[in-house]
Amino acid sequence: MADLPSERVFTGLSATGGLALGTIVVEKAAALGDRQAGSPGQERRALDAAIARAKGEIGALAAKADDLGAEILEFQSALLEDDDFLGLAFARITGGDPAQEAWSAALDGEVAQYRAGGDDYFKARAEDLLDLKARVLRSLFGTDTKAPARMVKDTILLAVDLTPSRFLELEGPFLRGAAILGGSPTSHVAILARARGIPLVVGLDTKLDKAMAGQHAVLDAKAGSLTIAPSSATLATAKDRLDSIAADTRAWEELIARPAVMGDGTPVQVSINLDDPAILDNLPPAHCDGIGLTRTEFLFRGGRLPDEDAQFKVYRRLMAWAEGRPVTIRTLDAGGDKPIAGVTPSGEANPFLGVRGLRLSLRHPEIFAVQLRALARAAALGPLKIMVPMVTLPGEMDQVRAILDLVLADLAKAGTDHARPALGMMIEVPAAALCTEYFETDFFSIGSNDLVQYLTACARDNAAVAPLADPRNPAVLELIRRCVAVARAKGIEIGLCGDMASDPELLPLLLDCGLRSISVSPAQLGPAKLAIHRYSGKAGRHG
Ligand code: PEP
Ligand code: MG
Repeated sequence: MADLPSERVFTGLSATGGLALGTIVVEKAAALGDRQAGSPGQERRALDAAIARAKGEIGALAAKADDLGAEILEFQSALLEDDDFLGLAFARITGGDPAQEAWSAALDGEVAQYRAGGDDYFKARAEDLLDLKARVLRSLFGTDTKAPARMVKDTILLAVDLTPSRFLELEGPFLRGAAILGGSPTSHVAILARARGIPLVVGLDTKLDKAMAGQHAVLDAKAGSLTIAPSSATLATAKDRLDSIAADTRAWEELIARPAVMGDGTPVQVSINLDDPAILDNLPPAHCDGIGLTRTEFLFRGGRLPDEDAQFKVYRRLMAWAEGRPVTIRTLDAGGDKPIAGVTPSGEANPFLGVRGLRLSLRHPEIFAVQLRALARAAALGPLKIMVPMVTLPGEMDQVRAILDLVLADLAKAGTDHARPALGMMIEVPAAALCTEYFETDFFSIGSNDLVQYLTACARDNAAVAPLADPRNPAVLELIRRCVAVARAKGIEIGLCGDMASDPELLPLLLDCGLRSISVSPAQLGPAKLAIHRYSGKAGRHG
């Protein structure tokens, strides 16, 4: 077949990994049309009916969604039952607003509050609210809420935006992947797509064009690109890659339940990074060597300061899940890209270089001590390891140990069950990485996300400098090699829990550096085990 002359490549941001081949289906937002407003009484009844219909639709979707989908939808249904919130819209109708304006204004106010919350969690919630706003408006205007896009076999959906509920409506045997002009890699749609292994590119740099519909396309979600009308060469390369991805998947499915060993039989510890305990419900603990990083920020969302018992219950759940395997729990790492309203300082010119991680905990001993108490109590249940983020100087670890000693003495005095947990530190600050020999610690864990950011002077949340923030930079690998050598010489355990370990292409470089313990995102357990299995010596020169 002759090459199509019109191959066009559009780029965006990678929200998931994966590759898809298929046919473009363009989804345009349904126009709402016109609606004649009635008396306040009629408007009230119209909004009531629209809300009831939306509730029914969301309920039906939630009933067939998995836990993650249902949890996202639950937030929307809860708002539809919140009388205080609904009261805002109905009060506007009483004041003379048509139902659509009253509903939009109430939702917009709520969205603005969530957006002001700052962090990714709140931004994702704001998108959920816009999803709900649109659903009720469609219902009010009588716009068809069924799929305006006609799905075809191997659909690659192209849309301006994709809400979580729309994604749940569309997912099924036809949907191979999606590319959207808006969105962000931290949105709920991205989380849903990642959990389902559906390739998704966000922020695609193009305009929707009807002529794109029906064209063949290659969606490379890992690279963040969409190729429309691919040439036969592009198509052949994509097909080869798909074949090799499928072969790799079959290979790691064989390995996932077994301990990870390198080609020469050397064991490698593979633990998981935990951002949200909900993921544990569907993860057999035997697939990993424990939890290598728990990002406890999830406990503090919305400026909520969980008390000791609330924290203890969560830590106890992790210990029970791990069935005796080590559970590493990081103390609060707020600040930088993880602001917590009311806790992290506002107005810092450069929050990544400011009061974050341990620096913040040491300034808030009242928060820190509560967390240490809960952790020491949970340590009575098994091998719990406390890990401290963003350590710069050995003296900071001495301060942490002194606070922990006080906490343990208090618990002993009160006769509360507890045990002394291992106390270790993350290596994320170059000054600490270059001086590992001076730290008194039970273990090290390299946080490559921050280490790469600080070493290359490239903010981890700035796509414009992403190519410079290359974990393959010889300076990064040299530093990791150094940390491993020092830890070995001192007889201290060392691992790596940054995203480098979750990338099967980078993992061999870490094994080259001498690392034999890693912690990866749960979805990457299989691919990581396969990369380790295939490793049989030097991954090669890099830089
Ligand atoms: C890291 O910096 O590599 C790390 C694991 O911590 P976080 O990504 O939570 O900052
Ligand atoms: Mg970090």
